[in-house]
Amino acid sequence: MGDVVFFPIGGADSIGASCYFLKLGPYNIILDCGTGLDGEGRVYEPDCMSLLRSGLVDSMDQIGMIIVSHAHLDHVGALATFAGCCSNANIYMTQLTRNVSHYQLCGRRMGEKGVSGEESLMYEHIFDRVLFVGYSQTMDYGDLKVTFYPAGHFPGAMMTLFEYEGKRILYSGDYSLNENALSGRCVVPDAPVDLLVLCSINAVRPYKNCRTTNQLDDLMSEINGILETEASLNCVMKQFSKSVELLMALNEGMTCGRIRNVPVYLSKGVLEVVNIVEEQVGPILNANMHLADSHLARSARGSEPFVLISTEREGMDMPHCVKVDADFTLHDGYLQTVDFIRDVRPGKVVVVHYDSSCFSGFQWLKRKMETDLGNGTSIDFAIRGNKYCL
Ligand SMILES: [Zn+2]
Repeated sequence: MGDVVFFPIGGADSIGASCYFLKLGPYNIILDCGTGLDGEGRVYEPDCMSLLRSGLVDSMDQIGMIIVSHAHLDHVGALATFAGCCSNANIYMTQLTRNVSHYQLCGRRMGEKGVSGEESLMYEHIFDRVLFVGYSQTMDYGDLKVTFYPAGHFPGAMMTLFEYEGKRILYSGDYSLNENALSGRCVVPDAPVDLLVLCSINAVRPYKNCRTTNQLDDLMSEINGILETEASLNCVMKQFSKSVELLMALNEGMTCGRIRNVPVYLSKGVLEVVNIVEEQVGPILNANMHLADSHLARSARGSEPFVLISTEREGMDMPHCVKVDADFTLHDGYLQTVDFIRDVRPGKVVVVHYDSSCFSGFQWLKRKMETDLGNGTSIDFAIRGNKYCL
């Protein structure tokens, strides 16, 4: 077994519960620890027993680092489990990832019925262990250096570069090549890397039957179509963090006239998360945006249409509104994925965070990608439970 081993614990060949193990000689590192939703909407977590069964560690106590790339739940939702069983691990993330994750996992839940004070205390204890890292910062352990780069995608998101015994390994996390309403584009390391662990949710586009345009654009068109019928909407989000992106896109659409300009209401939880993000990225709210109070549900019919952004967890009852499932992804498609790989210049790519159930042509896609890259880079679509060595 080589000095560098990569082992997907969760979310390699499926979307959700992203969680990967990286062994660099004596260093045992967990990259992300997210949750997923199964077909029935039940939350599941990565199976840390699979790591023990792999023989790569004897005990979770040997894990020294947990690195969280960004605040989306499929990357951070299982933090409590992993922080609990990896009791010797330092936990690293940016300050904004910490603040949004804390709110999603802990702050919001404290106000809810059925969550014990004990559980809240446990989360406080976990988040007290978090060590903040910043872009371009390098942590130097002598034979291991760890550097963080802006990933785009979502405020606070980072890529992580490991340099160990002359080998360079980049974990992309979720990234974006293009600027979006909230974050700039990713910044890749100057020098080529030996191994790129690539989160690539939509690399199969346009080769499988799925939308090739930005899903947020589609959602904006749907929202405008409903407003044109004089109806109000309740845009229901699966997670708080994405509501901020939706709000920014709505604002942009209304400013440029693509979407009818109507008042935008935010649920209490959404407003609080917007405030957390504003602390880092500057003002987001404007005079057209309001807190949804208890009168809103009754005032909908016959009045001027509005858009409400709320979350599934808050379960707001809005009988006069059209309910829109406002979940979306903002990931790059095939051509941009190839561009990103070209920028990073890796010798080897292990693709994770892709859905193997939706497409049967991954061997074909591997060869196509290698041919399109044309520079000798080898591509592997990772399978959970397999070991990948460098
Ligand atoms: Zn993400």
